[in-house]
This record gives sequence, C-alpha cells and structure tokens, in this order.
Amino acid sequence: MVDISVVIPVYNEEKNVAILHKKVKEVLDTLNKKYEIIFINDGSKDRTYEELLKLKKVKIINFRKNFGQSAAMDAGFKAIKGEIVVSMDGDLQNDPVDIPRLIAKLDEGYDVVSGWRKRRKDSLQKNFFSIFASRLRRKILKTNLHDFGCSLKAYRKECFKNFDLMGEMHRYIPPMLAWKGFRLGEVKVHHHSRKYGKTKYGLKRLFNGFLDLLYIKFWGSYSTRPLHFFGLLGFLQYGLSVVIFIEQFVKALLIKGLTVGPLLLLGVLLVITGTMFIIFGFLGEILIRTYYSKAGEKAYSIKNIVIR
Ligand code: UDP
Ligand code: MG
Repeated sequence: MVDISVVIPVYNEEKNVAILHKKVKEVLDTLNKKYEIIFINDGSKDRTYEELLKLKKVKIINFRKNFGQSAAMDAGFKAIKGEIVVSMDGDLQNDPVDIPRLIAKLDEGYDVVSGWRKRRKDSLQKNFFSIFASRLRRKILKTNLHDFGCSLKAYRKECFKNFDLMGEMHRYIPPMLAWKGFRLGEVKVHHHSRKYGKTKYGLKRLFNGFLDLLYIKFWGSYSTRPLHFFGLLGFLQYGLSVVIFIEQFVKALLIKGLTVGPLLLLGVLLVITGTMFIIFGFLGEILIRTYYSKAGEKAYSIKNIVIR
C-alpha cells in the first residue's frame, strides 16, 4: 500500500528534475510513510526524459508530444496509488519542504489543501497581473483562496474519482472540487525564483485564463442544466423585443403608418436570436447527456510508462 503519491509534470526541465527528485525524497523519507514519485514528461524537447531515466524508484509517464500541464497532471492523477496525493511544479519554484505542512492540514479535516505563495518570486509584471486575476477569480467563483496559481497542493485520493482535467484547467482544481462538496484549505508556502529553464507561459495566459474563468463559472453553475442558462438569455431577448414592438405599435397608431426603421429590425433580430438561444439550450441538454455517459476517451496519448 502506498500512503503518498507525488505528481510532477515536467516540460523541458532537464536541469531541475534530478535536484527536485532528491529534495522530495529527503523530505518524504522523514515522514516514515510509503510514497511514490510520479513524473510526467510532457513531450520535452531537451534531455528531461534521459535525466528522469537516471533516477531510481520513480514512475515516469512519457507523453508522445507536448499536451500541456493539465493533461500531464491528469495522467499523473490517474496513475496514483496513494491515499494522499501531492502535486507540484517540476521547476524548483515550489519547495518540497512544505509538503509535510500541507499533509498536516489535510489531517485537520480538509480534502484539498492549496499552497499560498505569500512571497512570490516571479517577475513584477507576472505578480501584478496575478494579484488582479486572483481577486477576480475569488469574486466570480466565490472560492475563498488567495492564490489560484500555485501548483503545490495536497489532496485526498477521493478527489480524483471521476475527475478529468483538460485545456488549462489545472488552475481551477480547487473550485472544481469545491462544487462537488470537497473541503478546501490553504497553507502559506515558500516560493523560489526559477534558476534553470524558462517559464512556459507568457502574457497570453491572461487572456486564456479569463476565458477559462468564464467557462468554469458557467460549468460550475449550469453544467447539469444548460437550458436554464441559454433559456434565460433567450427570454431576455424576447422581453426586449416585446418592448420594442409595443413602442413601434404605439408610434404607428399615433403617427399613422408603420415605418421600417432600425429599431423594428432590432426587434425582429432579437426574436430570431432569442429563439436560437433557447434551441442552444436544448442542444446543451442533449450534449450533457452524452457527456455524462461518455466512454473513457482521453485528450492525450502516452507513449510508455517506466517504473524503476
Ligand atoms: N509544464 C508542463 N507542460 C507544459 C507547460 C508546463 O508539464 O506544457 C510544467 C512545467 O515543466 C513546470 C510546471 O508545469 O513543472 C509549471 O510550468 P512553469 O514553471 O513554466 O509555469 P509558471 O511557474 O511560470 O507559472
Ligand atoms: Mg514555474
């Protein structure tokens, strides 16, 4: 039986993996528990895979190409054997020293404990946008976390039953779990600046992150009832068109004669788009049925798995 599974996605981290592996081992050895370390090589183009092969007692999941951090984490979470799962970055920015504190917090009765990088060691510009993004996420998702971007987290294995990560959704694991009723906790953790290798994300992630936020909000509130969302939008448009038609009708009576102007056209357009939205809702309901009954399709492909 395994007590703790550590999941680490790596993409072009050749200089980091050996150091990180040693540090994680040192920390976990002090806990007197059975553990496994799972590295997911996310299609690295440098010598990361060769470096991983030099390590002892690790599981290496080797992707055929780069599928992204979320896909890599998903593959890791599906391979875990431990009762407790720890995820972290493979670039030495997270510090394994914090792992025992995260696990201790789990024991207080939490299901997920997320790291909070109180003193972030990233570029000024990244920190600035990240504070702004975290605030927005807190407000929109109504999740009381300070730091959404920290990969260092501890979970109970139950969290990953029927749990799929896609796209760049790894940033939203805690709210996704909170919707299912898992309890969230937070612990302050260390953060270091990157010594080796480069960050994989630029400013584009801000834009993508915002779209993901909207999607996650939609998914959290309406994933089981899309008709309510699209239906509401549809009926709002109907309502607006009724107001326009009444105004046009009164005007036609008073001035005698109906003129086809932009407002009347807008009214007609709103009836059409409103109807379309309601139909989207029906389609959504049909799709969601297929979604919940899907076969085990995956969004990535593993080349091989090495257990040493
Ligand atoms: N990563 C990955 N696949 C990717 C991008 C990143 O596995 O396509 C890994 C990367 O190697 C690192 C972690 O995800 O271990 C976080 O990436 P990075 O340090 O570039 O993100 P940042 O710290 O800049 O947010
Ligand atoms: Mg990093």
